[in-house]
Amino acid sequence: MEAITRPTRKEKTVDRASWRQFGLFFKRAKLSWVWIIIALAVTIAYYLVVAKLPGSTAGVLKGDFSTKALMSALINYACFIVLRVLVESTLLIASSVSTRSVRNSVWKRMMGIETRYYDKNSAGSLLSAVTCDSEVAVGSLVNMIVTIPGLIVYLYSAIKEIGSYSPKLIAVVLIMIPVYVVYAILMGKWQYKVGHRIQTKIGGLTGFLSERIRNLTLIKSFVTEAKEDENGKNAAKELCKANVENSYLNGVMTAYSFITEAAGIVLAVIWGCMLLRKGEIQRDQWLAFFLFVPTINLVLRQLTSIWSNLKDVQGRAARLGELMDAPQEAMNEAAGVLARSGDIEVKNVSFSYTEDTPILKNISFTIPEGRTTAIVGPSGSGKTTVLRLLEKLYSPNEGEITIGGENLENINLKAWRDRMSYVNQDAELFSGTIREALTYGIDVEITDDMLEAAARLADIYDFIMDKPEGFDAELAFWGSAMSGGQRQRMVIARELLKNADILLLDEPTSALDAETAVQISETFFKGFEGKTIITITHELNFIAHADNIIVLKQGEIEAIGTHDELMETSPTYRALVEEQSYQEVFVQ
Ligand code: ADP
Repeated sequence: MEAITRPTRKEKTVDRASWRQFGLFFKRAKLSWVWIIIALAVTIAYYLVVAKLPGSTAGVLKGDFSTKALMSALINYACFIVLRVLVESTLLIASSVSTRSVRNSVWKRMMGIETRYYDKNSAGSLLSAVTCDSEVAVGSLVNMIVTIPGLIVYLYSAIKEIGSYSPKLIAVVLIMIPVYVVYAILMGKWQYKVGHRIQTKIGGLTGFLSERIRNLTLIKSFVTEAKEDENGKNAAKELCKANVENSYLNGVMTAYSFITEAAGIVLAVIWGCMLLRKGEIQRDQWLAFFLFVPTINLVLRQLTSIWSNLKDVQGRAARLGELMDAPQEAMNEAAGVLARSGDIEVKNVSFSYTEDTPILKNISFTIPEGRTTAIVGPSGSGKTTVLRLLEKLYSPNEGEITIGGENLENINLKAWRDRMSYVNQDAELFSGTIREALTYGIDVEITDDMLEAAARLADIYDFIMDKPEGFDAELAFWGSAMSGGQRQRMVIARELLKNADILLLDEPTSALDAETAVQISETFFKGFEGKTIITITHELNFIAHADNIIVLKQGEIEAIGTHDELMETSPTYRALVEEQSYQEVFVQ
């Protein structure tokens, strides 16, 4: 078991930053205040009734069976039950509605965050912020907001009532306060550590399992099931260890609660009996006081454990606060609709993902409107990075990119992205029906005739019509039940429907066999004739359609020209063509 150590200065700074993020989260979180106030009112009413119960019951317990005494006890108990039910349900509604609204705003902000942020933060852990952290953090926060005032109201009313019997009885309550404060401080630290370890281990286990499930075919092909079984057991063992420590903690906490509760009751009995003997309180007051003691103990314990609850919420809320504070993409909405078209100019652009590694070094070239431009070069030379800059997923560190003379930095981002289609080798499709997948992100109405025309042009119409439901057939999850070629044809149909002016292709056929690759490349050029096409490729069937070829090498432009020109001027290009020709001969 880990010893409880003093926090270092660094830990203290992290803790302070974490509290700041927590504050930020609290400020930004759109909690459902209407429901919180309803739950708060019901909870306060509930605790007021709880504080009345001992007084109204004590008379009956003492033997006063008058109609008034019985009715008063009965009404109080009826209110107690009704309010208890209302407390539970309104609290649940307040936290569910608040969680939903926080989740929505975190998700909305996550989609708007700059791409650079995702380079530094793992997508898996960010997702658990939406699914898990928001639920736990908001749930606990709402619970605290709603419950704490009720607990204080109860304590105040209980002390007032007890004080009315004899001010000396209050001493028992005051003695118990330091006992619980010490308990909260000791247990809070331990609880925070154990809780944190459990969260980390659950994260580790989830990450492990999701990666293995994603790569199940790899496991099968390497026949490593037994090894992965062992790895899975180890990951689960770590979580189990943390849970076992948690059970020790729970054991100690339960023992401590019993001991303090018993001590509180013994103390109350001794003290109460003494006052009763001296005649300072009546028998029914003594009975009422005795009934108060367990609830007061419970309330004191709940109040003093707020600190440890808050520490648990702090970590999760801080993560959410950090997400909400992450830099957002500049949408430039004020710039209005992008009317310009024309050539795209990349002028003296330099770019790096991280400060120390330059990826693109002062590159300049023109992409003529309505023509096909191919970007070729060795792997890692920066080709995909050029497309990312054109899509404005990143901005150049130096230089500028313009369309028709207008700098991309100044144009409306949505309008710009509406003008382009991006296709890569993964042929990304969302699940749902074929109709939904093909019309994804398209705002205008798409008729069946338009769907049919696009599907025919993409050469996927017969495949769709083979399904009894046609366009309304469900795609299996991520379209994984289709072959690579079929998925890419679906993507072509979707992009034809989007009808963008600029088509960005990032090796769209590199995952396909040679024959399908040729067919798909023909489909692209037939379907997008007259559009501006920028294609990253190493395949001759794509290069053959290009009006202009840019050769990139280690982030610099080695040459620009037509096929014939580059065969003369670019060693990299020549090597690429010769390798392909060799492969073709070899394949035959
Ligand atoms: P290409 O498309 O020519 O294969 P890329 O543009 O994908 O090359 O990558 C160029 C270089 O940038 C590579 O060295 C790659 O490791 C690096 N790189 C790509 N994406 C990132 C990223 N998100 N963060 C840091 N480095 C990256």
